[in-house]
Amino acid sequence: MELQEKIDELRRRAQATPAIGEPAIRNRLLEEVRRLFQDLAKLPKEQKGEFGKRLNALKAEVEELSTRAAGERQVAEVRFEDTLPGTPRELGRRHPIYRAWDEIARVFLKLGFEVEYGPEIETEENNFQSLNIPLEHPSRDAFDTFYVRAPHLLRSHTSPVQIRAMRRRRPPFRIIAPGKVFRPDDADASHLPSFHQVEGLMVGEDVSFAQLKGVLLLFAREMFGPDTRVRFRPSFFPFTEPSAEVDISCFLCGAKGCPACKGSGWMEILGSGMVHPKVFEAVGYDPEKVTGFAFGMGVERICMLRHNVRDIRWFVENNFRFLRQF
Ligand SMILES: [Zn+2]
Repeated sequence: MELQEKIDELRRRAQATPAIGEPAIRNRLLEEVRRLFQDLAKLPKEQKGEFGKRLNALKAEVEELSTRAAGERQVAEVRFEDTLPGTPRELGRRHPIYRAWDEIARVFLKLGFEVEYGPEIETEENNFQSLNIPLEHPSRDAFDTFYVRAPHLLRSHTSPVQIRAMRRRRPPFRIIAPGKVFRPDDADASHLPSFHQVEGLMVGEDVSFAQLKGVLLLFAREMFGPDTRVRFRPSFFPFTEPSAEVDISCFLCGAKGCPACKGSGWMEILGSGMVHPKVFEAVGYDPEKVTGFAFGMGVERICMLRHNVRDIRWFVENNFRFLRQF
């Protein structure tokens, strides 16, 4: 074989040897280069200079290939260092409001209620008229409602879902309607322009206030503990008659009085009442034949009471130090 062929063959082999970075392999290849230098002596005088350069270049290339491969191997070893601890990744979790929503829904599902959803953009009719909210009622004011383009608005409560459900169904039935609602309130410790409600409705031939009390007592005990007591205070809502605010005995102090219950021993959790006859008329039911009860609660409020959260804004600030606690 001519010297040039030997040089080319050795170069190809060096380039095709990934393990060239290992000292034993590198030394063997360099030994072969050294042997080619012996061939140099046999060449005619005028070729010696030129082939000397080529052999030196080959030697330099083998060394360079070897150094580079060794470096890459070191990098690779670092890259696959399996004793290094991994980068911890935090798993996400459900937002406390949606956890509270689920817990509320679970209680009513056990009592045979079905879940109904409705659109967040509603008609004025479903949000007000059908619920017996008269034109002069302050909540009808454009400053108290987000109007999209009249007669459409962002629903100010989930009660329109009751209207939709009653128009579509025939009594008897019982539903809950969880969802997002909107009010043009400035955000402060107890207000947000968007929050969540769960409404309940039970309609049938002999639905009574006693059943309303029974259902809400069961709910309060499931959510706030088996010793919880409930108290009904007369109130007014346009869509129920009679109407009542419902309080629970303070579960933090055992109704003795503490800062959370403002010393009263009671905490307000929701509004309720018997469905107003005019609401039944609006959906085509005969109020002489059908009775029903309805209630509505704020999910944020329930969640704040259960976990003693003092500012509603904390739910929407995306502060992980707060959210991680749930
Ligand atoms: Zn208390």
